[in-house]
Amino acid sequence: MTDFSPPRGTQDLFPPTSDRIERLRRDASALARTYGFRPAETPAFEHTDLFVRGVGESTDVVTKEMYTFEDKGGRSLTLRPEGTAPVVRAYLNVRQSLPTPFKAYYVVPMFRHERPQAGRMRQHTQFGVEIIGTTAPAADAEVIALADSFLRGRGIERMTLHLNSIGDEKCRPAYREALTAFIEERSDRLCSEHRERWKTNPLRVLDCKREECRTATEDAPRSIDHLCEECRSHFETVQEGLREEGVALQVDHRLVRGLDYYTRTAFEFVSEVLGPTQSTLCGGGRYDGLAEALGGEPTPGIGFGLGLERLLIALEQEGVALPEPEAGVFVVALGEAARSEARALVRALREEGLIAETAYEDRPLKAQLKMADRSGARSAAILGEKELAEGVVTMRRLTDGQQETVKASEVGSWLKG
Ligand SMILES: [Zn+2]
Ligand SMILES: [Zn+2]
Repeated sequence: MTDFSPPRGTQDLFPPTSDRIERLRRDASALARTYGFRPAETPAFEHTDLFVRGVGESTDVVTKEMYTFEDKGGRSLTLRPEGTAPVVRAYLNVRQSLPTPFKAYYVVPMFRHERPQAGRMRQHTQFGVEIIGTTAPAADAEVIALADSFLRGRGIERMTLHLNSIGDEKCRPAYREALTAFIEERSDRLCSEHRERWKTNPLRVLDCKREECRTATEDAPRSIDHLCEECRSHFETVQEGLREEGVALQVDHRLVRGLDYYTRTAFEFVSEVLGPTQSTLCGGGRYDGLAEALGGEPTPGIGFGLGLERLLIALEQEGVALPEPEAGVFVVALGEAARSEARALVRALREEGLIAETAYEDRPLKAQLKMADRSGARSAAILGEKELAEGVVTMRRLTDGQQETVKASEVGSWLKG
C-alpha cells in the first residue's frame, strides 16, 4: 500500500482541523443542552427501507446518493444519509419512556454518495436537533432560534434566514393544483430535467436552481396564499416567536420540500460567502406526517441539520479567527531525580483539569523545548537540579521565551492566571 489518502470524497479529521471540529461539536452539544435538548444517537446504518419511506423514493438522496449494501445475512442496509428518519424511528420504538415533547440533539456522521466538491463531502459531521410530539409554533421558533444562536455564536454574520410555510394535508392539495395548472402552461420553458419530469413533483420546480425554471416560475402561485386558517395562524405565530427572539427572516416562496409528510414550516440559513450550490448552512422544517409514513402513530415533529465541515469553510471565508485549541504546559525535566518530580507535577496539574505532558525519555534541554513547542503547549515548566533544591519551577512562555520562577505548588494557579 503506497497511497495513504482517504477514500474519494472523504477527509481525515486531523490537527488542526480536528481541533476545530471537536470544538464545534462541543459548542453544539453545550448550546443544545441549554435549550433542554438531550443527546440521542442512532446506529450509523439502518434498514434501507427506513430511508426509502422516511426520505422518499423519488428524492435524489434515495435514488442516487445512498450508500446501500447487503450484509452477510442478506439484509439491505444503508449508511445514514440524514438524521431525522432514524431518530423518529427510535422515538417510536421507545416512546412510552420518553417525555412529551421529546427534544433530541445529535452530532454524528452522515454519508451521501455525491460528486465531491468543496463543502460537499461523502461523509460529513452533522449537528441536528429534533422536537418530537408537538405541533406548537413555539417549538418551530425555538428550533430556528437555536440554529441562529449557534451560527452567530460561532461568528457567522453574512447569512440570511429563509422561511416558508408549505401548508398541510388539508390545504396543500389545492396549492399543488394551482401550481400544476400554472406550470402546465409553461412546461416547455422549464429546464431539460424538469420539462419531462415536473409532473411527479411540481413543487420541486420552484426549488430548481437552473435559470430556465427560475424565469418560468417567477410569478408562480405562492404556498402562503393557499394556507388554511390553522396553517396561516401557525405561520404567523412562528414569525412572531422569531421576532421576539430577535431573529431576522425573509419569507422565501421557493423554499419548498416536495414530500407529503413535510408540513408547514420550512427554513434554511443561507450563507452569502459560499458558492450557490453549497450555500445552505442549515436546513430544516416540520415533518408532521413522517411518523405515519414510517408506519407509526401520527406524531408531529420539527428539526434541523447543520453540517460542521461546511460551517468551518464559511467561518474561514468570513475571516473569523478560529478559536485556538486549549493550550497546556510541557514539563521539562533535567536529570533522573527531576524526572520523577516532573511526573508528580504533571499528575497534580491534570487533576486540576489542566493539559500537562512531559517527555517519556531523558533528553537534553534544547530537545525538550523543541518537543514542548511541537506539542502545542503554550508554556514549559522547567525542573532542573537548582529548581529541585529550592522547591521552585522555572516557567517559560514559549511564545517569547520570557521566564519566571514560581513555587512548585503554585504552577497550577500561574497557568490559570
Ligand atoms: Zn429545473
Ligand atoms: Zn393547512
